[in-house]
Amino acid sequence: MNIEALARKNVRELTPYLSARRLGGKGDVWLNANEYPLAPEFQLTSQNLNRYPECQPAQVIERYAAYAGVNKEQVVVCRGADEAIELLIRAFCEPGKDAILYCPPTYGMYGVSAETFGVERRTVPAKQDWQLDLPAIAANLDNVKLIYACSPNNPTGNLLNPDDLRQLLEMAQGKALVAVDEAYIEFCPQASVAGWLKDYPHLVILRTLSKAFALAGLRCGFALANPDVINLLLKVIAPYPLSAPVADIAAQALSSEGIAVMRQRVSELAANRSWLQQVLPECACVEQVFPSESNYLLVRVTAASNAFKSLWDQGIILRDQNKQPSLANCIRITIGTRSECQRVVDALNCLPTA
Ligand code: PMP
Repeated sequence: MNIEALARKNVRELTPYLSARRLGGKGDVWLNANEYPLAPEFQLTSQNLNRYPECQPAQVIERYAAYAGVNKEQVVVCRGADEAIELLIRAFCEPGKDAILYCPPTYGMYGVSAETFGVERRTVPAKQDWQLDLPAIAANLDNVKLIYACSPNNPTGNLLNPDDLRQLLEMAQGKALVAVDEAYIEFCPQASVAGWLKDYPHLVILRTLSKAFALAGLRCGFALANPDVINLLLKVIAPYPLSAPVADIAAQALSSEGIAVMRQRVSELAANRSWLQQVLPECACVEQVFPSESNYLLVRVTAASNAFKSLWDQGIILRDQNKQPSLANCIRITIGTRSECQRVVDALNCLPTA
């Protein structure tokens, strides 16, 4: 019996997202998933695993709303920002009819999630400076229900121009939702558009505890939006999206002490990032280091240096971006501890350029 033939056509044809974990590798320097390099310590405060958890744990919602400067009714908590990306498609896109739009090079899960649900993926490449190509977006909005805009953008590290985001919101009014992915916003908090929710009923903001909060293994993320959008997302969410231990730890991470520790991490990583930005251009195999507002740096290396593979073989695991549009010979390096950053630089310094 051919089980594969029973599957939905779009699932048979789907190329799954190749997460850093699925790509594997063997090493002791893991700088490929934009994780925080050190493990935070938490204890569970309650022991009630016999009971189902709350669907939307009140303390997590209250604390996140206070942290983000929005109302409780404007927050949904879910299993990572990845689940929020998917909930939006499930709630707003009719398979076989509607489309999502995004601007590569950018995060891969927008496309994979849409494909899984049989929703068209429309791409409008970013301009050479990685800003939005607004006229091209305007010309491609037919049947588009959702636009994903990532700022700071993964993997390029740049922020989107706020004026462009406003124009995008104006252009989408009455037609589509605009989801601004702020997974990395803690590294440049002044750039958040959370304050715009009052102006735009169709704005959604995606957030996560996976990056600056150092909790990628917890799987906890958020969507911020006006209550009409939130209520639709709550219609399609699983009955118990967060396990009780996840809610317990998320609430602790969002206490005032937790937030203070997060800010401390952000400043340490920013110092390591500036150091890397200074020393990387001195490596012979490095052609260009792009500016970054985030916890990673995009670097263009010489083709001949074979940098990604050489470092991989030495147990220094980075993220190859060579296949992304306009990112030939580019590698994304997550900012780790200072000694991890030093290991990267030492290894790059040993590579040939030609
Ligand atoms: N958006 C972007 C831009 C990301 O880089 C990531 C993580 N790789 C996510 C969303 C998903 O984050 P989470 O771990 O919360 O699912």
